[in-house]
Amino acid sequence: MTEFSGLGLAPNLIAVTAELGYKLPTPVQAACIPALLKGKDLIGQSKTGSGKTAAFALPILQGIELERRALQALVLCPTRELCAQVAREIRKLGRNLHGLAVLELVGGQPSRPQREALERGVHIVVGTPGRLLDHLQRGTLVATGIRTAVLDEADRMLDMGFGPDVHHILRCLPTSRQTVLFSATFPDAIEVLSAALQRNPERVTIEEPQSAEVEIRQLRMDVEPADKLQALAWLLHEYQPESVLVFCNFKASVAQLTDALTKAGINAGRLDGDLDQFHRDQVLARFRNQSLRVLVATDVAGRGIDVEGLDLVVNFELPQQPEVYVHRIGRTGRAGKSGLAVSLIGSRQLDRVQLIEELTGRSIQMLSSSHAGSVSNLLRSIAGPPKMATILISGGRQDKIRPGDILGALTGESGGLQGSDIGKIEVSQRLSYVAVAHEHGSHATKRINAGRIKKKRFRATLIQ
Ligand code: AMP
Repeated sequence: MTEFSGLGLAPNLIAVTAELGYKLPTPVQAACIPALLKGKDLIGQSKTGSGKTAAFALPILQGIELERRALQALVLCPTRELCAQVAREIRKLGRNLHGLAVLELVGGQPSRPQREALERGVHIVVGTPGRLLDHLQRGTLVATGIRTAVLDEADRMLDMGFGPDVHHILRCLPTSRQTVLFSATFPDAIEVLSAALQRNPERVTIEEPQSAEVEIRQLRMDVEPADKLQALAWLLHEYQPESVLVFCNFKASVAQLTDALTKAGINAGRLDGDLDQFHRDQVLARFRNQSLRVLVATDVAGRGIDVEGLDLVVNFELPQQPEVYVHRIGRTGRAGKSGLAVSLIGSRQLDRVQLIEELTGRSIQMLSSSHAGSVSNLLRSIAGPPKMATILISGGRQDKIRPGDILGALTGESGGLQGSDIGKIEVSQRLSYVAVAHEHGSHATKRINAGRIKKKRFRATLIQ
């Protein structure tokens, strides 16, 4: 077994992996980290949950010269959510590097604050291709000091039409750079991309099954459409999951299902292509911090959903393509945690089940619900408030707010809450989300509105 200490990493980074509870490197990490530390280009096959972010982030962090406040590494991701997830993981791994600046550059947000942050100087940028290209072309992003470029989920970037932007961006970077490409699949277009942008890359494919396949229990319930709500209610009742992601194929089904659940008093939210970015961020933050127990989503909206180790993923509607199924259920049972995926199957969809079983090489076991209760009784038994409530605060990183400042404002003499009443605190560029125990929601909101954070006043709103 390879250990983190055997990969050539600096002691401070080995220490961080231990602090984060990573016991052993995942196979992707064991294979990639030594090659990347040597400065090689690399093309790797990886899935979400394989630990690939740390696989490229640790070598990048090792090479960062902190005192040189110039851009040294660039990570391209297909979606804003993935950018947020990757940036968060890099910050987490880099928490012992004092003064490390990691910036997200994504579309759908004003570019002025981004420009200002670039002017102040950052070490690592994580961004979506469109916005990155924008900054490069305006000259606000200076690429001359970049030593490493990473293309994360390269196949999805191509699928989403970012190919030309990616080529363009990479052409603006120093030719001496190291180029790292990760992709879940290897169509010809990826080989072409690699040939154009990389030099003699090391190839990393992990033969052994990755955690996404090993640790997810896959079950199916055979139900007709009219009985699906009852089946879902039964699942929630039976497994009492804290966080459930329910996938539908269409926006209309998402709306319908969310309404039915909400009317029954179940704490549920929806994520579909119609939501604007502000509300989308809000829903995701609430789901991540356990203020929202059930999230109903379409695939498009669910891309890059940054949630880990969900208790349960439900396919309320089975996707058309088996690959989509695999992607959906990958949200449960991440590295080291087992998960459960249940699909509700109509009698005419058995051939699709078979295709999925062929693709994954695993059988999906039948689950029969031995329940007598009516839908309304089942739903009533699981209705109720969520564990946490979310407070939205009108300040973020640009106001120099850190999670500790918010924690400080809510606990101790000024805030009156116990540390144990406070959940996840997410500080984004301009806003922060903090989870507090549900019963303290309005009290905590008032406290923030009445007090100050970093000597400044901010507006706090309880979001439901
Ligand atoms: P990723 O595939 O990069 O999205 O990572 C999946 C999750 O696994 C993230 O939450 C990481 O924090 C976590 N992780 C990464 N490396 C390890 C490791 N060696 N041991 C345990 N968890 C890990």
